[in-house]
Amino acid sequence: MSQKRDFYDVLGVQRNASQDEIKKAYRKLALQHHPDRNQGDDEAEAKFKEAAEAYDVLGDAEKRPQYDQFGHAAFSQGGVGGAGRFTNLEDIFSAFGDIFGAGGGGGGIFGDLFGGGARRSRGPARGRDLKIVLDLTLEEIDEGVERTISLKQHDHCKACEGSGALPGTSRVTCATCGGRGQVHQSQGFFTMATTCPACRGAGQTLESPCETCHGSGKEVSKKDITIRVPGGIEEGMRIRVEGAGDAGDPGGPRGDLYCVIRERDHKMFQRSGPDVMTEIPFSFGQLALGDKVEIPTLRGRVEMSIPSGTQSGKVFRLRGQGLPHVQASGRGDQLVRVFIEVPKKVTREQRELLEEFERLESEKPGAKSFFDKIASYFGG
Ligand SMILES: [Zn+2]
Ligand SMILES: [Zn+2]
Repeated sequence: MSQKRDFYDVLGVQRNASQDEIKKAYRKLALQHHPDRNQGDDEAEAKFKEAAEAYDVLGDAEKRPQYDQFGHAAFSQGGVGGAGRFTNLEDIFSAFGDIFGAGGGGGGIFGDLFGGGARRSRGPARGRDLKIVLDLTLEEIDEGVERTISLKQHDHCKACEGSGALPGTSRVTCATCGGRGQVHQSQGFFTMATTCPACRGAGQTLESPCETCHGSGKEVSKKDITIRVPGGIEEGMRIRVEGAGDAGDPGGPRGDLYCVIRERDHKMFQRSGPDVMTEIPFSFGQLALGDKVEIPTLRGRVEMSIPSGTQSGKVFRLRGQGLPHVQASGRGDQLVRVFIEVPKKVTREQRELLEEFERLESEKPGAKSFFDKIASYFGG
């Protein structure tokens, strides 16, 4: 990181430059590096900020002498109104709103050319974002689904078209702040701008409030919104429906709707990303002899063979029988974990056969004692 440049160098003016020269120099730089002209250009944005920082100090009758005397150190504590207070572009537009002539008409630094940009932070407020939770079954997640929900949202009041003013009356310039939306308070050395309490920053107040909405300009309405949920979506993911949130102030954009996905538990399947896992019971005989069985999947049954001598707990993989990938083609797998289901009751005939089996098992050449079996099972 290079050292902070001298503010006079940044603006390209002499140390004895007049306020007018400083303002002109800043205006030139601000126009040149304005973000509206340099979309996505980080270097231009950095220069735009740097120039604003320099102008914030040199264009201020109180800060400039401090800077002349102490340099950047005069503001190194990051105090109110110090240099480096701009963390983003909105700060700049809001700090220089008055100087830029935003809302006040008549020239300003940017004049008509970039009036929109300068007004950015003062513009009509955007509507609130809304959030809902969508409960989905695994089957719905598997196929992808369309859900229509009835959503309560704030709309513009029909009677006043969102203005909040009684029809026939209008908004008037706020008497407290003179339309600037900000009032200035002196704090020792510095003057601090705060949002006007009378108009809450709007710069205007109502002559008479609308009787329907009592001046809020809003009314609650119900709207059916259809949400397309892509297959394979996962718990906690959000779908954004642009413009389906609350209405903003007149002229401002609507908020968005966020649908948060919640997954219902499934009786048979557990999910792990695009894979699903299921546990299937088998008899001792099926695992010992091998079998061909039908296995339930999310989309019907498929045939699966298990070889003879399959151990309880073994996991088989059915390729492509899982859930679709959200952002790619193809599907995950279904994992089938087999386990032995021991009959709770046996018939007399079964008992005799099992006893016979156990007898033969113990007479097999190389048959182990029960304890030896345990030992060898645990790798002994
Ligand atoms: Zn006001
Ligand atoms: Zn109204």
